[in-house]
Amino acid sequence: MSTRSMSSGNVHVMSSNSTKYVYFFGGGQAEGNSKMKDDLGGKGAGLAEMTNAGLPVPPGFTIQTEACREYMRTGEVSTETDRQMDEALHRLETLQGQQLGRGDNPLLVSVRSGAKFSMPGMMDTILNLGLNDNSVVALAERSKSPRFAYDSYRRLIQMFGNVVLDIEKSVFEEIFDAKKKHRKTKFDTGLDAKALQEVIAEYKKAVKKHARRDFPQDAREQLSMARDAVFRSWQNDRAKTYRRLNNIDDMLGTAVNVQAMVFGNLGETSGTGVGFTRNPSTGAREFYGEFLLNAQGEDVVSGVRTPVPIGELEQIMPDVFKQLREITTRLEKHYKDMQDFEFTIQDRKLYMLQTRNGKRAGLAAVRIAIEMVEEGLITKEEAIFRPEPDQLVYFVVPRLDEKDVKYENILAKGLPASPGGAVGQIAFSAADAVKMAGHGAEKNPIILVRAETSPEDIEGMVVAVGILTSRGGMTSHAAVVTRGMGKCCVAGAQEIDVDEKKREIRVKGQVFKEGDWLSLDGSTGRVIKGQVKTVPPDPEDLVLLGKFMGWAEPYRTMKVRANADVPRDARKAREFGAEGIGLCRTEHMFFGEEKIAHMRAMILAEDEPSRRAALKKLLPMQRKDFEGVFRAMDGFPVTIRTLDPPLHEFLPPREELMVNIATLPYIDAAQKKSLVVKYRDYGVKGVGDLKKVLPHLLKRVEQLHEVNPMLGHRGCRLGITYPEITEMQARAIFEAAVAVAKFGAKVHPEVMIPLTATVNELENQAAIVNRVAKEVFKEKGRTVDYMVGTMIELPRAALIAGEIAKKAEFFSFGTNDLTQTTWGFSRDDVSKILPTYLADGIIKQDPFAVLDREGVGQLVKMATENGRKSRTNLKVGICGEHGGEPSSVEFCHQVGLNYVSCSPFRVFTARLAAAQAAASEKLKMEGGRTK
Ligand code: PEP
Ligand code: MG
Repeated sequence: MSTRSMSSGNVHVMSSNSTKYVYFFGGGQAEGNSKMKDDLGGKGAGLAEMTNAGLPVPPGFTIQTEACREYMRTGEVSTETDRQMDEALHRLETLQGQQLGRGDNPLLVSVRSGAKFSMPGMMDTILNLGLNDNSVVALAERSKSPRFAYDSYRRLIQMFGNVVLDIEKSVFEEIFDAKKKHRKTKFDTGLDAKALQEVIAEYKKAVKKHARRDFPQDAREQLSMARDAVFRSWQNDRAKTYRRLNNIDDMLGTAVNVQAMVFGNLGETSGTGVGFTRNPSTGAREFYGEFLLNAQGEDVVSGVRTPVPIGELEQIMPDVFKQLREITTRLEKHYKDMQDFEFTIQDRKLYMLQTRNGKRAGLAAVRIAIEMVEEGLITKEEAIFRPEPDQLVYFVVPRLDEKDVKYENILAKGLPASPGGAVGQIAFSAADAVKMAGHGAEKNPIILVRAETSPEDIEGMVVAVGILTSRGGMTSHAAVVTRGMGKCCVAGAQEIDVDEKKREIRVKGQVFKEGDWLSLDGSTGRVIKGQVKTVPPDPEDLVLLGKFMGWAEPYRTMKVRANADVPRDARKAREFGAEGIGLCRTEHMFFGEEKIAHMRAMILAEDEPSRRAALKKLLPMQRKDFEGVFRAMDGFPVTIRTLDPPLHEFLPPREELMVNIATLPYIDAAQKKSLVVKYRDYGVKGVGDLKKVLPHLLKRVEQLHEVNPMLGHRGCRLGITYPEITEMQARAIFEAAVAVAKFGAKVHPEVMIPLTATVNELENQAAIVNRVAKEVFKEKGRTVDYMVGTMIELPRAALIAGEIAKKAEFFSFGTNDLTQTTWGFSRDDVSKILPTYLADGIIKQDPFAVLDREGVGQLVKMATENGRKSRTNLKVGICGEHGGEPSSVEFCHQVGLNYVSCSPFRVFTARLAAAQAAASEKLKMEGGRTK
C-alpha cells in the first residue's frame, strides 16, 4: 500500500514503502482527522478530530483498518504493525507518566472496535486492559477503593475470557450470580472487595478450565490478544448480518482504538452517559440523553440498569453539565449534523469518549434536516440527502387510535423509544419471531418481547412490527436499532416481568403467553393489552414532510406510480403523491367476499359456456372497481394487467381435499358443518352436498393440478387458452373508462399482458383487447385513448425486447418473476436456501428485495435499450417489489426508466430515492447520510 501524504502538519511522514498502521492522538494533537474514516473508522476519525479541536479526550492510538484486512488475509498482524503499536504505546506511557499494567500508577486502556460505518454493539470491546494480580493492588491503593479495583479486574477477566478466549458468558455469570446468592445480595454493588477477590480466583480457574491456559498476566500480551480478537469480531455472525442488512462492504475491516481508561465508577463524583444533541425520536432541538452515576459505559448501553435523564446532571454537577453542553453544541456545529456522544466523568472531570452522527427516526430525520437549513447549518441541497428514503415509511404508517385505547387495558408505560403504533402477537425470541412471522411479502404481525435485546436479536427485530423490552433506556440497543429501522419500540417497561424461559410476561397480575396480542405505542411508551385499532399518521407530520419533499422533488426526473388493485388503495396512493397506477393486479379484485365464489367458479369451469356464465357475473364487479380506480387517479395513467395468477392460489389444496373426503364418513356433525363453511364457495350449501361436491371438486383440482404452477398455466397463457377471460376483462376496462370519461374525467388505461415470452403471445392478446375496445366504443358512442403493452418478466422477453417493442406500446418490468426466472430461484421456496447463502456470503443481498444489478439489472438495461431502438417513445417502468426499494430505484433512474411503481406505503420512499438519485447526478454530491 502506498504512503499517505497529508497536508496537516502533525502527521508522521513515513519512509517510502511503509504503511502507517498506527495513528496517535493526545496532548491536544492527533495524527489523523475526521476525513480518514476509511482508515481510522468512524470512532478513530472522531477521536482524532475531537483531540485536534482541543476537547478533553483521553489519549490513545488507532490501529487502522488495513491491519484488520491483513489479519483477515493472513491470520496475523504484521511485525510492522506490532512495532508501530509498541512505539505508540510508549508515547502514550510517556504522555501519561504511567506504564501499561505496571508501577504504582498503572496505565489501563480500553480496546474498542470502530469501523467506517457505525455498527452499534456488533463487534467487541475490552475495558480495563492492563490489570493483573499486581496492578490491581496498585489501583486499589491509588483509588483508595479496593472494591472498585477488584470489580474492574473481574470485569476485565470476564470480557477478555469471553471476547478473546471464546468462553461462554454464562460461565462467568454463573460464578458471579452464585456469589451474590451466597452473600445474599441482589445487586452487583452488594459484593465487597473480598467477595470480588473470591470471584476473581474462580474466574481464573474457569479460564484455565475452558481455555486451557492462564489468564495472561503480561499486559502487553493482553493488548495484542485483545487487538486480534477485535479484528476477528469483524467476522462474527451478528456483524455479518448487520453489514448485510445495511449494505456495508465485508472487505472494509475495522480499526482498533486503544485509549487510556477513565473511570466513571470511582464513586458518586464519577459517572458515564450517552446523549444526542437533538431528540432522536422527534427531532426537537433539545439536549437529550441519559447517564448513570458510579457506572462504566457498558452499564448504560447494555440496558442492565435504567439510566436517568441527562437534565438531572445539571443539579448534581452544574459545571460539568455546562461544559458538556458547550462541547456538544460545538461538535454539532462542526459536523453539521446531530451528534450522538458518549462521555465519562471521573472525579468531576469530564472526558469525551466518542461522537458521531446520530441515528434517528424518520420524523426526526426530516425535522432535523429542515431545521438545520433554517439555522443556516446546512444547505437545502445537503438536506435532501439526510433522511434515508426508507425512513419516510414512518410518515405513512399508522399509530394507535386513541378512541380504541381503554384505560384498564394499559398494562405498563415504558420509554417511547421509536414512534408509531404496532399491533401484533408476542414472540419471545428472535428465532420464534422469524418462524411466527412466516415468509412472503405479507408477514404475520409479531411483537418481539425481550428483557433487553442484543445484537443477536437482529433477525427477529427485522421481521417484527414492534419491539418491547422491560429493561434499558432510550439509548439501549433496542431503541437505537429500531429507530434506524423506522420501527415502533417501547423500551424499559419495568413493570413488565419478562420470563423468557417460561415464554410469558407477567404484569398487573396478568399473564401473557406467546401468540397473545399486544399493542405498542412507540410515541408515548404505552403497552396495551389486545388489538387496538390504528389510525393514519398525523397530518402535522405530513406538512413537515411536504416542506422537505418540496426541496427534493424538483430534482426528480423519474415518475413514481403505485401498485394498487382497489379504489381504496388507489386513493391512498394519490394522497402520498403517486403519479398513476403502475400495476393493478386484476385477480386481487376478486378476493372480496361476494366475488371469490364467482372467480372460483370461473377457474373450475369445465367448458366454455359455464366459464362464460361465471365471467358474466364477474364483469359488473370488475367494471365497478375499474371505475373507482380511474376516478381516484383523476387523469393519471392506470396500468391494468390481465389475469395472471397461478391457478392454485384460488383452489383448495389437493391434499387437504383428499383428507376431507377420506375422513368424511367418520367425522361428527359439528366437523361436517365446518366443512360446509369451508367449501361454501365451491357450491356446498348443506351437509348433504359434501359427499357429492367434494369428489367432483377433487377431480377438477386434479385436472388443474400442476407440479410447478409458478411456471405453469398463468399469465398470458390463461388468456390465450381461455380468450373469453381477456375479452371480459377488456370489456370491463373499456366500459368503465367510457363511463368515467362521460362525466368529464380524463382516463388513460394501459392494458398490460403478463408473462409474455414471444411476440405472438402479445399479438394474440392485443388483438382481443383492440377488438373489444372497438366494440365498446361503438356501442357507447365514445372513445378513450389507451395503450396495450406487456410485462417483461421472463428472460426470453428481455432478450427479444427489440422485437416485442414493435408490438408493445410500453414495457413494465415484473422483477419479481424476472428475478425468479433469471436466478431459477422459486419465489415461494427460496427461504430454504437464502439464509445459508447470505450467511456464507455466497450472495450479498436477497435478490427479491434488492434488484440484482449484475444479472437481472443487465436484462432490464438491455431490454430498455433494445426496446427503445425499435420504438423511440417506448414507455418503460418497473412494477416488481423492487420499485419501492431505494437502491433499486436508483438503478432504475440510472438506466433511464420512465417510472417505478411500488406499494402505496412506499411511494414517499420511492419519490425521495428517485430525487436523491437525480440530485446526486446533478449536484455531484454524495449522500451525507450515516450508515
Ligand atoms: C412481478 O413479477 O414482478 C410482478 C409485478 O408480478 P407478480 O408479482 O404479480 O407476479
Ligand atoms: Mg409477475
